[in-house]
Amino acid sequence: MNPPEVDRAAASRAAVAARRARAAVKRAVNERRLSATSVLETALSSTESIEATLRVRDLLLSIPGLGPVRVERIMERLEIAPSKRLAGLGVHQRDRLRAFLAQRAPRVEGGEQSRLVVLAGPTAVGKGTVSGYIRENYPDVLLSVSATTRAPRPGEIDGVSYYFVTDEEFDRMVEAGEFLEWAVVHNKSRYGTPRPPIDAALAEGRSVLLEIDIQGARQVKQAEPSATLVFLLPPTWDELVRRLIGRGTETLEEQQRRLTTAKVELAAQDEFDFRVVNNDVQAAAAEVVELMQIQKAIDLRSKE
Ligand code: 5GP
Repeated sequence: MNPPEVDRAAASRAAVAARRARAAVKRAVNERRLSATSVLETALSSTESIEATLRVRDLLLSIPGLGPVRVERIMERLEIAPSKRLAGLGVHQRDRLRAFLAQRAPRVEGGEQSRLVVLAGPTAVGKGTVSGYIRENYPDVLLSVSATTRAPRPGEIDGVSYYFVTDEEFDRMVEAGEFLEWAVVHNKSRYGTPRPPIDAALAEGRSVLLEIDIQGARQVKQAEPSATLVFLLPPTWDELVRRLIGRGTETLEEQQRRLTTAKVELAAQDEFDFRVVNNDVQAAAAEVVELMQIQKAIDLRSKE
């Protein structure tokens, strides 16, 4: 039997009000006016509360620094189904969620902080594609433009892909101390990270992403120990070879040289703070951006 017209109108008004109230709770958590732990406790103490009807996934997503990729993983680890609402949690799920929120809580206190993140990994793993995706989709992150002595490839633009400079100009920049780091890559050309744009971006409170080789990553860690090093991994070695050959822009000799470098580079992954597998560009980029924010939060805690 259908409810009378007047009841239906009232029910739909109530549903709209509940949605608004849930949005207000999420906003408060996101703006750090309310802790996720207190939302959980309210939900558990009163099944009538608006908090009780909030999905666990939405609560986690409203926590600053947690994006969809990480939330999905956290929920898997906590063994909580994506559609679960707070009031519907089992005893063990509640305990696991409580413990997770408690250990996470101090990390999100504080304000914004700038970060220096290095994305490295073996040649042809897709660092350029992932960092390009970040440049397009996360405009708050400054993607550093390196200087190089190698010749431009078709389609590359000076000042966007790289600053293409002569050997003499590169020498001058080294001598003037203009590089945060620089290295000879693939035993051939020199590549360096110009320091001034990075200092300016960090001073403005922006995060900075460097897409450089492993020798460069090591130098950055030495110069700036607070930098976060992220290692991008191919799904498999065969896939890496396929990507390298598939690019078709290098000669056979060049491909051989790059594969040799890649083997040495893969061996360096344990030196890095985080590893991200590049199965899918969008997911890998989201993970790198999330790592920036997580690192931010951990640093803030260690400063307290
Ligand atoms: P490609 O010639 O294919 O553009 O780049 C070759 C390698 O040089 C890549 O592994 C890339 O990450 C690295 N690279 C690009 N810019 C820099 C930089 O400024 N410093 C260092 N150390 N490596 C860089």
